[in-house]
Amino acid sequence: MGRIVRAIAKDASVVCSAIDGKDIAARIEEIHKPSAVVTAALGRLALGTSLMGFGLKGKDDTITVRLDGDGPAGMMICVADSYGNVKADVMNPVVEIPANSAGKLDVRGAVGTEGTLSVIKDMGLKEPYCGQVPIVSGEIAEDITNYLAVSEQVPSVCALGVLVNSDLSVKNAGGFLIQVLPFASDEVITQIEQNITKMQSVTKLMEEGKSCEDIALMALDGLEPNVLDDFEVNYKCDCSRERTERVLVSLGREQLEDIAKDGGTDVKCNFCDKVYHFTSEEITELSKAAANGGKSGEENA
Ligand code: ZN
Repeated sequence: MGRIVRAIAKDASVVCSAIDGKDIAARIEEIHKPSAVVTAALGRLALGTSLMGFGLKGKDDTITVRLDGDGPAGMMICVADSYGNVKADVMNPVVEIPANSAGKLDVRGAVGTEGTLSVIKDMGLKEPYCGQVPIVSGEIAEDITNYLAVSEQVPSVCALGVLVNSDLSVKNAGGFLIQVLPFASDEVITQIEQNITKMQSVTKLMEEGKSCEDIALMALDGLEPNVLDDFEVNYKCDCSRERTERVLVSLGREQLEDIAKDGGTDVKCNFCDKVYHFTSEEITELSKAAANGGKSGEENA
């Protein structure tokens, strides 16, 4: 399981959430079987989305972050709930590109530097909140920082890292998101800047055995921080057979009749490794529901 710890400065003007997302990144590796650079890219986006989701106020709120760059990985999409649980999908999981000039996985090369970062927050209102900014870096954490500054006017610092072993398993993964509230003083901001300059990368800190609690407190060093909360977070997909049936019904009667003739179908979830099998008879039942305007037979009876 993963973990998110949120710490707050004594004067409550800065909050830092830090995540240990090794297990989340490992699930991404397990489900999507990506190459190392895509594990790093999608892992970073998933952890960033989780940290943003964790900040949502309503318990049923969700956040969707879509990174659509011109790199070979193609579009990446992550969805998190307000507890920080997250799921992730990528268009092209296997991208083989050389390491960057620093000898590291070239996340920017996989993501691309032209394109958009879009955020949709569903907070139970009639219209979800939508924001979009151009990609400024392709390294993901900087793109999230830029999004929060431009679209939500919240000055923040985001750091994300995923370390991949040579056998493609995940060595460690983590990140933090510092959000500065409007009443923060110049001294507080200067202190945060100094802390960030001093800190090593998150993956390096984790290799040294630092927990996400240590990292959250380190980011707020000098501001007498306290831990606000400490939660378990997981890779979590909310797909179900019922939801898959609704998607099938939306295909319409004709297409369903064709599928029934082919002897049924397997529907694979894009976000997890579940496969829903539908027999020819089940598809025929759904095609009747489609003919009835999307209502299932039982509801209609
Ligand atoms: Zn699923």
